[in-house]
Amino acid sequence: MISIKHFKATNILFKQFKILSHRLHSEVRVRFAPSPTGQLHLGGLRTALYNYLFAKSKKGKFLLRIEDTDQTRLVSGATKLLIDDLLWAGINIDEGPNFGGNYGPYIQSERLHIYKENMRKLLENGSAYHCFCTERRLEMLRKEAMRTRQIPRYDNKCRHLSPQKVMQLLGKGTPSCIRFKLTSHEDPLQDLIYGPVQHNVSENEGDPVILKSDEYPTYHFANVVDDHLMGITHVFRGVEWQISTTKHLLLYKAFGWQPPQYGHLPLLVNADGTKLSKRQGDIGILHFRNKGYSPIALLNYIVSAGGGFTRDQFAKPQIYNIDELAAQFNIENVNSHPSRLNPELLDAFNRLELIRLINNESTLPILIDHVKNLIKETYPNEQNLDLNTAHIEYVLRWSSKRITFLKELTSAKLSFLWVKPSNFSTKDISTAQIEKLRDVLQSLEFSKDNLSNAIKLFAVKEELNFALLMKNLRSILSGLKEGPGVAEMMDILGKDVVVQRLENMLQNEQLQKTKAIR
Ligand code: GLU
Repeated sequence: MISIKHFKATNILFKQFKILSHRLHSEVRVRFAPSPTGQLHLGGLRTALYNYLFAKSKKGKFLLRIEDTDQTRLVSGATKLLIDDLLWAGINIDEGPNFGGNYGPYIQSERLHIYKENMRKLLENGSAYHCFCTERRLEMLRKEAMRTRQIPRYDNKCRHLSPQKVMQLLGKGTPSCIRFKLTSHEDPLQDLIYGPVQHNVSENEGDPVILKSDEYPTYHFANVVDDHLMGITHVFRGVEWQISTTKHLLLYKAFGWQPPQYGHLPLLVNADGTKLSKRQGDIGILHFRNKGYSPIALLNYIVSAGGGFTRDQFAKPQIYNIDELAAQFNIENVNSHPSRLNPELLDAFNRLELIRLINNESTLPILIDHVKNLIKETYPNEQNLDLNTAHIEYVLRWSSKRITFLKELTSAKLSFLWVKPSNFSTKDISTAQIEKLRDVLQSLEFSKDNLSNAIKLFAVKEELNFALLMKNLRSILSGLKEGPGVAEMMDILGKDVVVQRLENMLQNEQLQKTKAIR
């Protein structure tokens, strides 16, 4: 008997050999082949990303192919949104619709002539046949299977029609489809992630339709023809497709073509192991984009669940850009356990990415511009905005490690950062006292505690009512009656802006008239 340990060792050796042997022969070419039936979600992005990382780690090509043969499920505009999300995530498309490449068209509905031509080959070599069974008959087969508690499957009736009968029925214009003759598939599928997988499809399924009566191919047929004609060397896709792969291998055999190598990615699941559901509504990439996550944070979140790297999972989270991820990626480190997502990590990654962008000279100006736009969007009718670059930079530095999303900076409670105060109420403090306070602050090292002590001391010295002083200072600094504590507000605004706002107030004519009180 082969021990599990032995099995694992042979499995790893086998994986290494397969990957190596293919590499010797040709350039790596992988594809992401979504159906435009809705928006890209986490599972789809994971598939695209792993294909991309594999291609880049092997200096190969990443193709995008749109699989739109099921015309009943198309969602208009979905292709454009899919592409938009991929590009946002940083996945560059080497070949694809409107991306160039010598193997197009890359949209299946534009390749119908190619499928027809290849279908003829299978009809001629006897691997496929016309099926004239009506929907009514198929429905009866299904019902009968249900009644006898069997898995519904086509009974392969039309396999046995004589060529004369077929000619006669076709001649009469009888509606038909084309089915593929399943044969026994004894060799296990050598899955690059799961190892050997045994699934003898002909024992479990009837002959599958490969060309529908509307002349569109089914997924199985189009997928095989395209992967072959587009020179695909490796296919990485969700494990839900694994059950179809033996069918695909049989199609390759019928054509006499060499199949690509397959690796199926395990299920992507929630932290508690439950299945991600589209109905949860929050797994669409657009949802993450709208919430303000950065693409890099999202990619690190996905790979933290999926494996492919030699990393200590208990180490502090670190963030890598897509090129760094590709350089470290190794398909042999992807295992077949379900990939658990940890949402806490996503927020941690977003914070790390923000810090990285703030501390990088070339990205800081982009970030500052972004904040400027956010401020303008948040206060479209405000004339008196503080959009000074140094001020924004100061706030960004203050905020690193404190916020998860950039847009937290324009939340209502921080409005005082951006809207310069115009209506101050300062009736309880004199001009001379404000000047004094300005001088005190100017020589103070700013921190919440230092500020709080300095203001308390100032109130005592100047015999000012502390609560009234705070009320007046809040008004001078923000024009508001409420908000964070005054010391905290000053700390966030920074010395330059605090002094500037005190000066503004001093210059205000109205103040000249204000009388000091005790
Ligand atoms: N069109 C299939 C999908 O939407 C592609 C499966 C495959 O990669 O072969 O997932």
